[in-house]
Amino acid sequence: MNIVIAGGGVAGVTAAETARKTNPKADITVFSAERDLLYFRPRLPEIVSGKLPLEKIFAHPAGWYQEQRLEMRLGENLVEVCPDTRVVRGSMGSRLVYDRLLVATGADSSTPPPVDYKLPGVFTLRRLQDAQSLYYEASRCRAAVLMGAGLLAMEIGAALGAMGLTVHVLERAGRILPRQTTPASSAKLNKHLTDQGLVFHLNSSLKAAAGHERLSAVELSDGTRIDAQILVVAAGVTPNLTLANAMKLKVDRGIVADEYLETSTPGVYAAGDCAQTADGFGGLWTIGRAEGLVAGHNVACEPAERKKYVAVPPSSTLKVAGLDLVAAGNIDPDDKLTGAVFEDEKAYRKVVVDDDGLVVGYTNLGTTRGNRELAGALGRKRLPPDVLRDLSATLDFDFARVQNIAG
Ligand SMILES: Cc1cc2nc3c(=O)[nH]c(=O)nc-3n(C[C@H](O)[C@H](O)[C@H](O)COP(=O)(O)OP(=O)(O)OC[C@H]3O[C@@H](n4cnc5c(N)ncnc54)[C@H](O)[C@@H]3O)c2cc1C
Repeated sequence: MNIVIAGGGVAGVTAAETARKTNPKADITVFSAERDLLYFRPRLPEIVSGKLPLEKIFAHPAGWYQEQRLEMRLGENLVEVCPDTRVVRGSMGSRLVYDRLLVATGADSSTPPPVDYKLPGVFTLRRLQDAQSLYYEASRCRAAVLMGAGLLAMEIGAALGAMGLTVHVLERAGRILPRQTTPASSAKLNKHLTDQGLVFHLNSSLKAAAGHERLSAVELSDGTRIDAQILVVAAGVTPNLTLANAMKLKVDRGIVADEYLETSTPGVYAAGDCAQTADGFGGLWTIGRAEGLVAGHNVACEPAERKKYVAVPPSSTLKVAGLDLVAAGNIDPDDKLTGAVFEDEKAYRKVVVDDDGLVVGYTNLGTTRGNRELAGALGRKRLPPDVLRDLSATLDFDFARVQNIAG
């Protein structure tokens, strides 16, 4: 059996590894537009700050790919697929026939206007090369502006701040991390990051990025001008659908995939940031990996042995020194549901339940207590009123009580 995978990110490589386990005899070829072997994309901010040695970012040593007998076509885009003949063509001239194909082309950073992304000093952060260039530039600059105040922006901001730059953060919304925080936890986070030197400009947007040969300043919509040599745009991601569109796969926000992660074309599967399942669009490492495990099995097995994908609840973690933030499921950012809230000077915890007491989301800021037990309860366990009451009463709540509830 010939299995071809487009994309060497976590979804593609996890799928390749799984396909090898399912089908030891298959020929497995992975096309990867990037020249680097799989690396931990979530750790790129540590490359920006210079804190992570380059070799530590790679998921596997080069020899691992040989042991797995994976044919890696690094730096080669899969540019053409003919579903009728099942012939694929790579940008460097490879030509192969596949039995099953996995599209795991991931996503790219969104590049909203009005920024000129070719102007030196303007960055997005998606690839290892972006992180290395940003590190190099940051070590020669004094001030940076971040467009967006989501998780990624906060991590880049902390990394640039640690390098001694003054970091201005622009956010259209009235608070930082609007999707991962409630107003109360956002205020706490804002204070912590302000103390670390980040300067927030809320309810504000970028009007222009100015500079002749390179960026020298940015202008905000209210007329404020900030002198800065670096602008990092962290405004979300856009699924990479170039190949899917060329193949005429059904796409919505991402490539539409069924419960087996098969696309509208039989024998062609999708996983990771480019895929959209009935549960929505992933955009997370954990989801790309979970989808890669299922898609990798399904591309390699007999049709009757295919597995269904069971959705992984979205969970985000802010990896900034001195601060723990986990937000998972529906954290009810507008405080419309019920549950338990605990807050003191250092920590904020919110557990959200539906009308039946089922845990539908939680957030923990400034504490890691209960992360494991709450992750296990999400979507599975119902919390009785006395547990909700005590969760609201003390940070030192005994989480064995949640652990012991049957799921
Ligand atoms: C800085 C940063 C921090 C993050 N932090 C977190 C975090 O804390 N937690 C979390 O869960 N997630 C995090 N994420 C998101 C997470 O990294 C992604 O969800 C995950 O990497 C997606 O994996 P993927 O394999 O679907 O796609 P990708 O990682 O995007 O890989 C797809 C690969 O396919 C290549 N490709 C595209 N088209 C083709 C083609 N036609 N032929 C061949 N190759 C092609 C792309 O170049 C890319 O190398 C972070 C992302 C970034 C950038």
